Amino acid sequence: MQLVIVESPTKARKLSGYLGANYQVEASVGHVRDLPKSETGVDVEHDFEPKYVVSKDKASVLKKLKTAAAKADKIILATDPDREGEAIAWHVKEILTDSFKKGQKCPPFVRSTFYEITKAAVLDAINNPGEISMPLVDAQQARRVVDRLVGYEVSPVLWRKVRRGLSAGRVQSVALRLIAEREREIEAFIPDEYWEIQVALSIDKMNKEGLFIEGKAAEILPDGVFIADVFNVNGEAFKPKTEADVTDVVGMLPSASYKVDTVDRKERKRASLPPFTTSTLQQAAATRFGWSSRQTMAVAQNLYEEGHITYHRTDSFNLSQSALDMARAHISKAFGPEYLPEKARIFHSTSKNAQEAHEAIRVTNVAVTEDEVFRAGGKMEKRHAQLYDLIWRRFMASQMNSAIYDQTTITVLATPADKSVKTVASLRSSGSILKFPGWTRLFPGKDDTYLPDLSEKQALEYGAHEAQQKFTLPPPRYNDASLVKELEKRGIGRPSTYASIISVIVTRGYVERIQKRFFASAVGLTVSDFLCKNFATFMEYEFTAEMEEDLDRIARDEKEWHEVVRAFYGPFHKKVEEALDSAERAQIPVEKTGEICPDCGPAEGGEIVIRSGKYGKFMSCSRFPECKYTKNIVETVEGVICPLCSKGEVVVKNSRWGKPFYGCSTYPTCDWANWKKPEVGETITPAEWAVKQAERAERKAKYAERNAGKSPAKKSAKKPAKKKAAPKKTAKKK
Ligand SMILES: [Zn+2]
Ligand SMILES: [Zn+2]
Repeated sequence: MQLVIVESPTKARKLSGYLGANYQVEASVGHVRDLPKSETGVDVEHDFEPKYVVSKDKASVLKKLKTAAAKADKIILATDPDREGEAIAWHVKEILTDSFKKGQKCPPFVRSTFYEITKAAVLDAINNPGEISMPLVDAQQARRVVDRLVGYEVSPVLWRKVRRGLSAGRVQSVALRLIAEREREIEAFIPDEYWEIQVALSIDKMNKEGLFIEGKAAEILPDGVFIADVFNVNGEAFKPKTEADVTDVVGMLPSASYKVDTVDRKERKRASLPPFTTSTLQQAAATRFGWSSRQTMAVAQNLYEEGHITYHRTDSFNLSQSALDMARAHISKAFGPEYLPEKARIFHSTSKNAQEAHEAIRVTNVAVTEDEVFRAGGKMEKRHAQLYDLIWRRFMASQMNSAIYDQTTITVLATPADKSVKTVASLRSSGSILKFPGWTRLFPGKDDTYLPDLSEKQALEYGAHEAQQKFTLPPPRYNDASLVKELEKRGIGRPSTYASIISVIVTRGYVERIQKRFFASAVGLTVSDFLCKNFATFMEYEFTAEMEEDLDRIARDEKEWHEVVRAFYGPFHKKVEEALDSAERAQIPVEKTGEICPDCGPAEGGEIVIRSGKYGKFMSCSRFPECKYTKNIVETVEGVICPLCSKGEVVVKNSRWGKPFYGCSTYPTCDWANWKKPEVGETITPAEWAVKQAERAERKAKYAERNAGKSPAKKSAKKPAKKKAAPKKTAKKK
């Protein structure tokens, strides 16, 4: 029997289906051992030797693996094809090798990697195995060790100098800095006034009513009418800053005579984008579906494990020859030969990690539709079909011909009727008409903008004009898409880490996601400032990017991992000691409300301020700790009443785990509560509520029973506080 070990049960099931009876497939369910939680687990005195421990919840999994290994003729390690997967394979091998007693014969280990879980790819990999790549394992070890040292050494500094319970991370803190800096830019932004003048013109007499509606050109204009912008006055670029700057031009426009000056017709081609990488997939799903990077990765993980798409952690644009052949055959058949370029389109990756020669993210079979993915059942839901469809389109589009547009730009000269007026204005307008759709068949763009057929010197009719006061806008706050883009551009993080970087700073409360945008919280700003001041080098974007490069070099066998960690740790540890010794304490600022404290206000002049605590914001007295007045901030859900009693309002409350839930404002009179936000008009009868409560109690009891045998986690002074997470069904690797 040959034993195949993968990391996830779904993947194990899939592989079982492809392999014969001679194979037994087992799942390690993520990492089998890791650094201990209770201590740093890195021996800095002895060349950073990591101390790995088997977590208690892996005991039964390992027992199963050991039993299977004892009966196996060969052990095939088929974990995911990247550093994390390589490390899992290596740890499994180490543990299983140790499980054989002296004199017992240990079966040989081989390593098989594949980038898609399809029958052909899996069989090919199983039949042509290699060995574990130690450079890849070492790159993972180095990342783990450096991240651990930063987390476990800097967090205590934050506890002493800022607030207990805070934590820092090597890459996360730098990502936080990006958001904090943007927050400050927005705070400091002073808008500039500017003006724009638009004129509605026509080749013929026109109905002059309704050409502009509330300052904007009407969406549908009468035939022959178009809008032109004033861009030049008396031979100089027109950049009006104030109303006074536009007065002269506005005065002459209604009575001026208009004549076409230049007509410029061009054919413009627009090529499609390369197929998806992890970063561009996360960006596109955030923009189109409003998903967080973490959500996108979870859905992609399911699609990958079911064999629908190639491996979803990649920074490569590469497509295999068979993938190109498959795409080209489909394009020719489904869209017609005019959509197929002469040669396959090749995109060059910027990534230097040739050793991890991934492909881009693509579908494994173009004949499979989103509908078929949805109907495949199991974990496949609507969102899986949605993401699958997006990946399918992007892959296909990347191999299709460019879209071709007819683009026309015209300029118009406006000369005053009154010869004594010296103001002459130039106006500009452009139109674009799609001549051949090419790949935009799959990603339709903006509608055509039409211009009437015009020739030079042609006279035009004036219809109406509009002078608009405008203001420059501050840079926008990051959202999931723009943050991932910025991280990738700066070389911070890698395909396997973008999602966790973002979710960590959100769950720590450093950053709030409000209407899909990231706002730095008071705590986040304070921590970012403190770290930038006391760990300047380590908070540099370039430094962090260089460390990622070093990890890549280890993976390419160009650097030795201990050497990289050693070079980092010396200067870093010195900074930690300096900061513990002499860093100035930082205050998390409070928000003023202008209200007087009801307890001490009249006598002592205390005011109500909003503080941010471990479990969110609350109101307290500015004279704390002399005055102990506090009050919770009640956030109500607008327009919704309690589904159970129909009397109370629905309020947002914070649970012990930091995850908010919804409850009735009349509590304890009414005990309605739910994790999900109620819809407008949602109701639940007292009988239904009683059933729900009973179900909940049962689940709670079961959970308590499961945990009863386990000893409570030991608390250690060295351990950074972590929020308790709700129990997960299956452990997944990060
Ligand atoms: Zn007070
Ligand atoms: Zn109620």
